[in-house]
Amino acid sequence: MPVAILSGPATHRSPLIHSMDTQTITCPYCGEPLTIAIDVSVRRQEYIEDCQICCRPITLTVERDDDADTAYVEARSEDT
Ligand SMILES: [Zn+2]
Repeated sequence: MPVAILSGPATHRSPLIHSMDTQTITCPYCGEPLTIAIDVSVRRQEYIEDCQICCRPITLTVERDDDADTAYVEARSEDT
């Protein structure tokens, strides 16, 4: 009798969306490209991060697109 090797559906549930991702934005003040770490486990968030070049506060809006499996980052100056 040949030995039947059962290779059923293995438990490979590696998450497709990593909780942390990096995105490159452009500073609205000095125009320098900045690499920021974003938490893509949150659907939508807004926070302030200081520019690594000119140290001015950038308002970041991170929005995750579930369909496209991507996250959008919008960088705005804090000017009102
Ligand atoms: Zn800057």
